Amino acid sequence: MPDVAIIGSGSAGTLAAWRLRQLLGPEAGIVVFEREPAVGGRAHHIQFAGEQIELGGTLIHTDNRRLIDLAAAVGVELTERRTGPPAGDGSLLLWDGREAVFQAPLDGLRLPLALIRQYGPFNLLKLRTLAKQAKAAWNSVYGLQDQGSVFETPQALIAAAGLAPYIQESLAELAKGRGIRGHLIDHFATGVLRDMYNQTSDVIALAGLVGLAGAGLAGGKLVAAPSGNSALLAAALERSGAELLLGSRVDGIVPDAVKVSVSGPGLTPRSFDAAVIAAPLELAGIAVEGPDGPVTTDVGRRFQEVHVTVVAGEVNPAFFGLRAVPGDILTTDSPQAQFKAFGQTGHSRSLGVPIWKFFSAEPVGEELLERVFVEVKAVHRHLWQAYPVLEPAPELLAFRLAPGVYQVNGFESVVSTLETEGAVGWSVADLVARDLRARQPGA
Ligand SMILES: Cc1cc2nc3c(=O)[nH]c(=O)nc-3n(C[C@H](O)[C@H](O)[C@H](O)COP(=O)(O)OP(=O)(O)OC[C@H]3O[C@@H](n4cnc5c(N)ncnc54)[C@H](O)[C@@H]3O)c2cc1C
Repeated sequence: MPDVAIIGSGSAGTLAAWRLRQLLGPEAGIVVFEREPAVGGRAHHIQFAGEQIELGGTLIHTDNRRLIDLAAAVGVELTERRTGPPAGDGSLLLWDGREAVFQAPLDGLRLPLALIRQYGPFNLLKLRTLAKQAKAAWNSVYGLQDQGSVFETPQALIAAAGLAPYIQESLAELAKGRGIRGHLIDHFATGVLRDMYNQTSDVIALAGLVGLAGAGLAGGKLVAAPSGNSALLAAALERSGAELLLGSRVDGIVPDAVKVSVSGPGLTPRSFDAAVIAAPLELAGIAVEGPDGPVTTDVGRRFQEVHVTVVAGEVNPAFFGLRAVPGDILTTDSPQAQFKAFGQTGHSRSLGVPIWKFFSAEPVGEELLERVFVEVKAVHRHLWQAYPVLEPAPELLAFRLAPGVYQVNGFESVVSTLETEGAVGWSVADLVARDLRARQPGA
């Protein structure tokens, strides 16, 4: 029976473990090494002001088939995000750091109608078409996986799914080429992408369109696990029967002729038939040896730092030059905007005030909080190495780094979400299982 090591218990590692169990059967050994004391990686929540608040990967789209199916399989209900009583008028504000660029109610058809009025019907229609085409191409990944397609490289997966047109240029370039004019891209789309990736519409088009689809441009709804998205991953890992080693940092993977040795500080070195790294290699600190010496995994990728600031308090609408507090604030790419995005994320029943979440490239200091809020009752700060800087035409590492050694997160250079990471973890598991079968005597 094969033994497989998975390094990382985020969405990628969990779906790799889940898929490997399906493919290798109940007797196979699947060991998940996680350096943190808890499962989930960037799916991570805290208790704050008496409420549970997600600090990282929060929203799952109803078309995200791998996660939706996983939740159904392990009996975790996914529900629409509930923020409690709205703090103000519940509108969406696009702000340039000095004044409102656009404001509209978030509910029903009123937002699309306001976008049409502001940016023109054809521009919005063309952008929706682009988002729907990209979504359809991404959704074809599931069909390919179901039909047994196995991919050795991200490029092969991208080509087979018809995603190549969204990889070579930025969203802004693609939109321009499709005749989208005016400020829809540098205002609205940039606002959404500053919220989603802390980057602008210069992101690689696939990430940009996935972000816009997540904002509702391609239909569907956004849901989350009320008990925390990491609880969904924990439930799936438990159901998969994988051996979970929390607080276990891996720092070396060395394949020999037959096995792969996995080691780390304080860990007893263990040998496996395969090892899957389900964490960004730049951040994981794992030296991988190949038959010809150390494997080079540096593709010059940079990571985007994101400061998440959670605040329980009452916002001062006068900060935005408004009479009522908006529910969600997006910003244009303006030097005056001191944060990327900011919105109501919950309501503290114990403190009796709304809970807000800021995303910013710099820490949100006391001075800014005093200007934005009339009253602050609690603050929590978290710094993420959040996702790669999502540039067009990135260099992508092959899924197989060395014999028996695989990686998932190179794919994050084209888009970084809970679902895409999970689905790529699934594909890497398919590749591992195929390689293991090929090594069996008589294969
Ligand atoms: C602020 C923020 C908001 C986001 N919002 C959303 C959202 O709303 N919706 C969405 O879909 N996505 C969102 N994302 C993106 C999403 O969270 C990520 O794309 C996804 O969680 C990545 O999953 P992963 O499994 O690939 O990596 P990770 O979740 O980073 O998992 C990697 C795991 O590997 C472990 N690890 C690393 N190195 C080692 C080692 N040497 N030994 C052992 N273990 C190791 C880490 O501790 C970690 O648990 C957001 C991300 C951030 C930061």
